[in-house]
Amino acid sequence: MPTATRQFLLNAHPRGRGIEDGDFKLVETEIADPGAGEVLLKTRWLGFDPAQKGWMENIADYVAPMEIGDVMRGSAISEVIASNNPKFSTGDLVMGSTGWTEHHLSDGAELTKIETSLSPTTMLSVLGTTGLTAYCGLFKVGRPMAGDTVLVSGAAGATGSVVGQLAKIAGCRAVGIAGGPEKCEWLVKEAGYDAAIDYKADNVRRQIKEHCPRGADVVYDNVGGAILDDMLANIATGARVVICGGISRYETGNLPAGPKNYFNLIFRRASMAGFIVIDWTSEFPAIRKRLEGFVKEGKLAYQEDIQHGFENAPATLKRLFTGANRGKQLLEL
Ligand code: NAP
Repeated sequence: MPTATRQFLLNAHPRGRGIEDGDFKLVETEIADPGAGEVLLKTRWLGFDPAQKGWMENIADYVAPMEIGDVMRGSAISEVIASNNPKFSTGDLVMGSTGWTEHHLSDGAELTKIETSLSPTTMLSVLGTTGLTAYCGLFKVGRPMAGDTVLVSGAAGATGSVVGQLAKIAGCRAVGIAGGPEKCEWLVKEAGYDAAIDYKADNVRRQIKEHCPRGADVVYDNVGGAILDDMLANIATGARVVICGGISRYETGNLPAGPKNYFNLIFRRASMAGFIVIDWTSEFPAIRKRLEGFVKEGKLAYQEDIQHGFENAPATLKRLFTGANRGKQLLEL
């Protein structure tokens, strides 16, 4: 039984700047044997989300604030290595927000047992928060109808790639915006997007007009800033603009100027709404089953980008903000 564990603690709030190595402190701390009703977990994979930057800055009010000295918050899949809890046995794989720690003591209340027949890591990727976010944001906020054109920014990422494929399953046209030719090729060849726009090479606004000649009926935005403006300039009458995230803001930490083209919402009788996926937590088991079914039927492709080594957790988080990740960013311990 381990008596000590390594953990990354929050060492600084990265406000107004990108993430730096000094924002984290690697420490070794003692870990007790599990008490009554507790389980001892060994972390196997960490999952990375752009939202972690906002948690570190303490700007999001939908989660508890992160204080200096807290274990870095994050989702993980762990193995139960000792159990005094009748709900869990040694060897079980569980998922939870257990943070950047090699071992963790838990009373089991916040843990979900991994029971998928797909790879366990899918519970952090296509069946995890990003897959659920894609599903809820598209269907509950975007409300696509067959024949609609669905325009997605951050399209090659863990969330965006699922959005376009779900749109195709719903009988829509999917147009994605992503950085670089390789990601754009993957979108069309592997994820079945009808068209992909390389925002690093093309004139985004002109390209959207070309690929969405009647305008976009659903806009699913993961990026914000100039790309959101370009998408707002090309919406169809009655469009639904889904604000899922704004990663172009996260790296600098500065709030972007408001969208310039919001008047188009008036002209096009359109709506724009944000959402937080945890509002549909009670529906997650049923949505997971649907997503798992789509994967098994070969209708939903996904990518997992697995880095290695606990000490590489800060560098792995940074990959999301340079676009280095190919699909869901994970780290295997
Ligand atoms: P991801 O898309 O897999 O990875 C982030 C991607 O963002 C990068 O690969 C990069 O792709 C792109 N990016 C980074 N900086 C950018 C910039 N300055 N301009 C344009 N694109 C940039 O990450 P994810 O976990 O799936 O998250 C996607 C979005 O969903 C995030 O905004 C996240 O906050 C949001 N989200 C929202 C909820 C919710 O409940 N509302 C829940 C989960 C996630 P390129 O190479 O294409 O630039």
